[in-house]
Amino acid sequence: MIPFVDLRTQYLTIKDEVGDAISRVLDKGQFVLGEEVELFEQEFASYCGVRFAVGVNSGTSALHLALLAGKIVPGDEVITVSMTFAATAAAIRYCGAKPVFVDIDPESYTMNSNGLESAIGPRTTAIVPVHLYGQCADMDPIRDIARAHNLMIIEDAAQAHGALYKGHRAGSLGNMACFSFYPGKNLGAFGEGGAIVTNDGEYASTIKILRDHGQTRKYHHDFVGYNYRLEAIQAAVLRAKLTHLDDWNRARDLHAGEYRRFLRDSRLTLPRVMDYGEPVHHIFPIFTPDRDRLQGHLHNHEIATGIHYPIPVHLQRAYADLGYKKGDLPETERAAAETLSLPMYPELTSDEVSFVAKTVIRGLEL
Ligand SMILES: *Cc1c(COP(=O)(O)O)cnc(C)c1O
Repeated sequence: MIPFVDLRTQYLTIKDEVGDAISRVLDKGQFVLGEEVELFEQEFASYCGVRFAVGVNSGTSALHLALLAGKIVPGDEVITVSMTFAATAAAIRYCGAKPVFVDIDPESYTMNSNGLESAIGPRTTAIVPVHLYGQCADMDPIRDIARAHNLMIIEDAAQAHGALYKGHRAGSLGNMACFSFYPGKNLGAFGEGGAIVTNDGEYASTIKILRDHGQTRKYHHDFVGYNYRLEAIQAAVLRAKLTHLDDWNRARDLHAGEYRRFLRDSRLTLPRVMDYGEPVHHIFPIFTPDRDRLQGHLHNHEIATGIHYPIPVHLQRAYADLGYKKGDLPETERAAAETLSLPMYPELTSDEVSFVAKTVIRGLEL
């Protein structure tokens, strides 16, 4: 059986390091925020090439607090993509704002800046591009439009730890950026986790207050805040794993290259690796109108796959009140109908990659 992701195999390669990291927290007895979290924040900020990182308890919380710190208020409109995990839109909703969806670029599967300008209205205050599958959205045109209309940019970098855009890391490309450390992400905790990164000290200090009940000092609540704190054990694990992230991303890149070589001449569509950057292959998606049959074929050959994501956000029941209908975002809808994610994790062997790719090719020929 080839799993879709294999967290256990990775754990075994770093067992001693994370064991030591966790023991360190147990010995100190400080379990929530504290020194371990602060050290992780410094190390992760420096990894992303920004001044500040604030650890929180999930990527969703990170998006929520970034939007609040950016002063997104009820009635605002925030432009994002529907081709994403629903949390991107949910966080906009938490602020009482309205998600406005633009279509994706059919090659990169990320926000298409051509649709941006016409989506901007008098209540638009922010743009949230998503670096889907580990590849950065094309940020320069997005930033030009944001600047011209005085809009804030918050990157959803939950799938893009370490990805590059024109030599700059995901997380350093907007006013703020949000990461998830859900276990299966490129940098994953042993539980839930997330972070906001930014070069702006004011955003960072507002977010630090909001994640901890709005306290400016213990029991002094200047805002109604949240309990979105990062746990010390997760920070300690993340510190240990951060030192391996580049190696793991390189391994993913090798697997992606092999998949591409095998699948190049097939009838499949693969996302284009855009020349503006280097993706980190959180997901390796392929696209075919024959998706469901191919998924069944792989399943019969003991290969686990995923679908990211089968129903785009604008067609989800939870967002029906926004008034979108089928056909509104044709590229997004095609992608959702055709996408199939192959096994992708650093510890895959090249035999496994070639077995998966050959099974895909055979499945297409049937
Ligand atoms: C994982 C993910 C999130 C949410 O992160 P959680 O840590 O699960 O809350 C948000 N956006 C995208 C694109 C994601 O992949």
